[in-house]
Amino acid sequence: MITVKEALNHILGSISPLGLEKADILSALGRVIGEDIHAPRDIPPRDNSAMDGYALKSKETTGAGASNPVILNVIEDIPAGYAPKKTVGAGEAARIMTGAFVPEGADAVIMVEETKSDDAGVQIYAEAAKGRNIRYAGEDVREGDLVIRTGTLLRPAEIGMLSALGRSFVKVYQRPIVALIATGDELVDIDGASSPEKIVSSNSYSLAAQVMECGGIPLQLGIAKDNMNDLTEKFRAAMRADIVVSSAGVSVGDYDFVKDVMKDMDIGIDFWQVAQRPGKPMTFGAREGRPVFGLPGNPVSSMISFEQYVRPAILKMTGHENIFRKTIRAKLAEDIKKKKGLRYFIRARLKSQGEGFVAETTGEQGSGILKSMVLANGIIVLPEDVDFVKAGSDVMVQALDKSQDFTKDPEYLND
Ligand code: AMP
Ligand code: MG
Repeated sequence: MITVKEALNHILGSISPLGLEKADILSALGRVIGEDIHAPRDIPPRDNSAMDGYALKSKETTGAGASNPVILNVIEDIPAGYAPKKTVGAGEAARIMTGAFVPEGADAVIMVEETKSDDAGVQIYAEAAKGRNIRYAGEDVREGDLVIRTGTLLRPAEIGMLSALGRSFVKVYQRPIVALIATGDELVDIDGASSPEKIVSSNSYSLAAQVMECGGIPLQLGIAKDNMNDLTEKFRAAMRADIVVSSAGVSVGDYDFVKDVMKDMDIGIDFWQVAQRPGKPMTFGAREGRPVFGLPGNPVSSMISFEQYVRPAILKMTGHENIFRKTIRAKLAEDIKKKKGLRYFIRARLKSQGEGFVAETTGEQGSGILKSMVLANGIIVLPEDVDFVKAGSDVMVQALDKSQDFTKDPEYLND
């Protein structure tokens, strides 16, 4: 039996990022870029107007005021998207729209609200300092700038920037295909004939959803019966994928054949028990660099073990730098007794209270109680060396989902 830390270090140590592939920028959303993006040109490309108004020589406006307008001759109209044709000289102005290039000769734009125009020209009612209302070429990004670094997670802002730089395709890390095998004679698929001896293979779906949630591509290989032939066939098919994840059949029961199949298939077994609860029985091995996880069968155990080991592995394979959930410090709402020597992963509800957080368990914690996961938005992690944690103690809680990131009301309006 090895510790959680040893298991994690061992697994992640044997995993390296997959190769890169070309993706169009919209399908690259949420993925990690595998190339440095330098700006091929300035953005904006030329000095342009930040306002609708008049482009002019700033010194012409000296002394202009509400009762003392300067009158200029309007020489041209420059809509956005069209190049100016004329040069602004003394006593002149060009009507200009937001985003249009500032014409030669002009060094400021006065906004339309500070002007009045008639047949005689435009009356300017305020002074405009040099540079007023001008957005300079390269003020967003300069040609040659490193704008997006390899390893960056692509969010909508990066997608917009890539498009502004004229990149319709980029290199991103490949997504692993994750073969999923459920094992057990008692299992049927969702719509399988219902008889009291059979249960739905919910792991097939919770694990597939977990794979999808972290960017992997699930390959559902269905249910293997508890015999060597059936299991071998499924594992053989699974070895085409980038990662193999099976569930159940890894304990020491009479029908637990997963370890035997892995041995038969030359998948080196690196360990098969982890000092944790839930999820103690778990095998990990590899063949030709392809990681094989034999997760436990109980619905909570398989999800927890996926969370702790498979998820970071997938994130590492897909080029992510931040591969772990955030851990939040919270006050424990109730006493918890535990067995010394095992690290516990307890399903919990995190609630903010005052400046901090409180964590309460989601009730019955049996490894078959899937509802304990449904009710949870966090996992309290208790270390090996304690056997009792008192209510009110500080505990570490893995924030499981985005419920910590969102609120019903815009909090900035509460000031
Ligand atoms: P095992 O490790 O094979 O003894 O399985 C442990 C427990 O997990 C048993 O109660 C199984 O019925 C249950 N189990 C195994 N596989 C699944 C699955 N795919 N979906 C839901 N429950 C499962
Ligand atoms: Mg079984």
